[in-house]
Amino acid sequence: MAEDAAAAEPLIVLRGVRREYPAGEGTVAVLADVDLDVEAGEFLAIMGASGSGKSTLMNILGCLDRPTAGDYRFAGRATADLDPDDLAELRREHFGFIFQRYHLLSELTALGNAEIPAIYAGLPSGARRDRARALLERLGMGDRLGHRPGQLSGGQQQRVSIARALMNGADVVLADEPTGALDRRSGEEVLKILDELNAEGHTVILVTHDHDVARRARRIVEISDGRIVSDRPNEAPREETVSSDHAAGRTPPPAASVWRAAIGRFEESFRMAVLAMLSHRLRTFLTMLGIVIGIASVVAMVALGEGSRQKVLSNISSLGTNTLEIFPGKDFGDMRSGKIKTLVLSDAEALARQSFAAGATPTVSTTTTLRFGSIEASAQVNGVGVDYFSVKGVKLASGRFFDAGAARTMSQEIVIDENVAKTLFADTTVDPVGQVILVGKVPCTVIGVSRKQQGFGPSGNLTAFLAYTTVQVRFLGDTSLRSVLLRVADDVDTSLAEEATAAFLLRRHGTKDFFVLNTDDIRQTITSTTQTLTLLIAAIAVISLVVGGIGVMNIMLVSVSERVKEIGVRMAVGARRSDIMQQFLTEAVLVCLIGGVLGVGVAFAAGLAFAAFGSTFVFVYSATTILAAFACSTLIGVVFGWLPAHGAALLDPVAALARD
Ligand code: ADP
Ligand code: MG
Repeated sequence: MAEDAAAAEPLIVLRGVRREYPAGEGTVAVLADVDLDVEAGEFLAIMGASGSGKSTLMNILGCLDRPTAGDYRFAGRATADLDPDDLAELRREHFGFIFQRYHLLSELTALGNAEIPAIYAGLPSGARRDRARALLERLGMGDRLGHRPGQLSGGQQQRVSIARALMNGADVVLADEPTGALDRRSGEEVLKILDELNAEGHTVILVTHDHDVARRARRIVEISDGRIVSDRPNEAPREETVSSDHAAGRTPPPAASVWRAAIGRFEESFRMAVLAMLSHRLRTFLTMLGIVIGIASVVAMVALGEGSRQKVLSNISSLGTNTLEIFPGKDFGDMRSGKIKTLVLSDAEALARQSFAAGATPTVSTTTTLRFGSIEASAQVNGVGVDYFSVKGVKLASGRFFDAGAARTMSQEIVIDENVAKTLFADTTVDPVGQVILVGKVPCTVIGVSRKQQGFGPSGNLTAFLAYTTVQVRFLGDTSLRSVLLRVADDVDTSLAEEATAAFLLRRHGTKDFFVLNTDDIRQTITSTTQTLTLLIAAIAVISLVVGGIGVMNIMLVSVSERVKEIGVRMAVGARRSDIMQQFLTEAVLVCLIGGVLGVGVAFAAGLAFAAFGSTFVFVYSATTILAAFACSTLIGVVFGWLPAHGAALLDPVAALARD
């Protein structure tokens, strides 16, 4: 039924077409009551003075614009109900536009410009290239394929735009003042091409104000003040007809599969995004900088947080696992005073006998001078029980630890750590083990060198170990303890042991003049503290990312407004709204992704720089963070690129094309 109608009906049917533009309070009708039929294969000139409504009519014919009122049927199909993408499809498949000012994309070569319509039609890239080349060659542009519009003359640019119009077949060629910007000879060539195209079967509609130009057509429709005032055949002699091998295929090769076509369109988006970025390098870089800083700070902060967490945890595990440390005083603050003498040796001995304890070792500590030969150094001397080393996980570098008898005999055997060994024995090559050093005024024999422990304190601390009785008697002169270190029995829960210890000591002392430190508690507290801190810092970094994203949005708005004309051209040759959207989204995402990559690089560089300057900060990067950073950049690109891209996609093609 529709077939019949299409067969009976001319290709183009306009009935009562009216086009109004808002003007001041009301509207002004630029076209009024236009009835026009155009048969397939006609060569029609629409002629009229400047401002008479020719371009408006042509835009309606080419489905770039819609009538305010009236009917337009193309190939038997009413266009009134079509949505913008359907209209784009009609333009893509049936129309080829040739503009007075060519409207070529300046970043693309002649070949690149000619190809565009086929990208949106989904032609595979090889076929696309071949066809564009064949069309350009046929139009005498074979030796200018790689030239950009700026390197071509007006006539040459117009031939590129004709090739572009023909790319998808162009049942109907719409030429709006195609010779208006050309010198006489170039204009003549263009008209000859139009003549040939018509001879090959293309319907050609030529818009002009010039009688000489209009005379080339087979039919002349004259328009004045938006109304058709005459419509007559023109019996101008046709120039020689072209040979059939010149007919560069009115029907293009078949389109690729849906997927291949989508990939082709994505490639185009990608290429255009890269071109756009390259043509505004500084601007793109500055925009990217916001993202770089944001991503770098997020990644670096998370890495730093994780590094600190791991460092703190390893420090804590150096305190020994499953251990409790009991200090005199009410809490940490009290301990510092060091004056509270309520914890005594018998407490340690009693605790050691409890079932929840695998052992208990008293500790005392003093600071004194160590001397070997002429070298002196101040060191912390810990008086400890024999279990101390195993509970704390102290490792030997050489020699041995003192044995169980040392405390009883107030042994003068000393274990020094590597820092002490390095300091006191710096000038000699003798083995510290077996040497006698002065601890204060007390000569002691070095029996072992311990490895430096991972600990909270600065790593340069000098530490030595004596039997606790030796320190109490020779240095402190009393029997109170700094702490009791208790190893919890293997089958007992640490927090239960903590409660039991507290209850036991409370009974012994009658008052709570001690406090128990559970390393598990510290671990948990510190872990949650560092997590909170990491979260806080990361939140600040995320804010900087949002600021970066707003920068991207801003620059994308600029990019869109700079390229309104390009958008118009792409729409005229059949780009869907989604194609336009995709192009700008791709650009936004690309800016953000490259910013993300640079940001991750900067974060790594920061880690390396900190390490190189011997900082104690440790950066621990995780693959998850980095993946998250890339996901985050992409998301920022999509979120902040959406508004500009959406705005671009919604542009009206006619208004976009008219923009300077
Ligand atoms: P021609 O191509 O014949 O020179 P146009 O079709 O471009 O003329 O324009 C016809 C009339 O419509 C002109 O008077 C012009 O000012 C008006 N016109 C065109 N586009 C718009 C628009 N977007 N808004 C308002 N008036 C417009
Ligand atoms: Mg015009």
